[in-house]
Amino acid sequence: MRSWNVPALPSLPGSAPLPTLHDTATGSKHVTDVSRGGQLYVCGITPYDATHLGHASTYLAFDTLGRIWRDAGVEVTYVQNTTDVDDPLLERARDTGVDWRELAASQTDLFRSDMEHLGVIPPDHFVAVTDVVDDVARSVSALLESSFAYRVDTPDSSAGDDVYFDVDRAGQETLWHLGIESRLDPETMMRFFRERGGDPDRDGKRNALDPLLWRAARDGEPSWPTVLGEGRPGWHIECTVIALEHLSLPLSVNGGGSDLIFPHHEMSAGHGTALTGETFSSLYAHAGMVAYEGEKMSKSLGNLVKVSELVASGVDPRAVRLALLQHHYRSDWEWFDDDVTASIARITHWVAWAADATPGAEATPLVAALRDALADDLDTPNAVAAVERAVVEDVPPTSVDVDAVHALLGIDLRA
Ligand code: ZN
Repeated sequence: MRSWNVPALPSLPGSAPLPTLHDTATGSKHVTDVSRGGQLYVCGITPYDATHLGHASTYLAFDTLGRIWRDAGVEVTYVQNTTDVDDPLLERARDTGVDWRELAASQTDLFRSDMEHLGVIPPDHFVAVTDVVDDVARSVSALLESSFAYRVDTPDSSAGDDVYFDVDRAGQETLWHLGIESRLDPETMMRFFRERGGDPDRDGKRNALDPLLWRAARDGEPSWPTVLGEGRPGWHIECTVIALEHLSLPLSVNGGGSDLIFPHHEMSAGHGTALTGETFSSLYAHAGMVAYEGEKMSKSLGNLVKVSELVASGVDPRAVRLALLQHHYRSDWEWFDDDVTASIARITHWVAWAADATPGAEATPLVAALRDALADDLDTPNAVAAVERAVVEDVPPTSVDVDAVHALLGIDLRA
């Protein structure tokens, strides 16, 4: 699927150290494993509502990782999916009387335009789930053959049975087990499974936490003819299959919002290990949640601040990016409407400072400060503070400083 335009990316003299990242699976920071290049999979949107600042903040975090990797000389392969068929999307389409395909296409377009406004480097492979339904069906068939999956009687479908993943069998016979990535206790797993699309009460499952791999066709729902009959993919397996098609295991980083820690990333990893025998990812990185008006920004609460609306109201997208970068990606934080006002003023000062840049060829102390901050678990607040100090103290900039703000923070002060 088409992604979006690649922003300009100046190259800098010297190179960054290899970045460390906090790993959810171990609870500690590690140097990212780039022995086979930067193999990055970040879970994409379900396109039923426009990109809000919570999403934008997550994709900016992994954009920052891509930028510091590239500056460190790492060849990056970045893959992202779009969950363009799923229950919440279908429900929204039904409620609003819009065809689900049109809803997905229009919201994916808006996402592309938001990412482009924010200067996010696009994925090398931006993959719609509806384009890989056959591949998912073949992988689910393979899991049935190897007994890591099983069918559950589905009387309301005339197209066969739903298929589930056997977490206990995978836990006994592979390198994967429940908790390997999330490190959660069983009660919390159950709560998140129920809240985040799972169906613990479905009759016929072997373990209440077994996730759906394949949904047999139901009346009035979209479905595709496949080796498993008519149906559509479960949620977690789509990411596994797309990652396996474009990246080699173990991934360097599997990333997303912290609401994907369980069950989504744990189960995607389980499917991947059951299919290949390999460890799925060497590191799992998660971005915090953004709140607005006292509550987590979410579609269901309706308290969304949208990138597209900020930009449409005339806000400089660089100010939106800067406002987001001022928060550490792992923290949960709250957006206030005057955040962007402060960032607009800051961008104005930075642009005036950059206008006096003299030609440079060497990495400067500011470049080193930016590299060190970002290589340390993507510490963008510290990187922003380094630029702000140089501007406030009126340290005469060189063209390399201005390039570094552009290449590493994604903010073009010459535009
Ligand atoms: Zn995913």
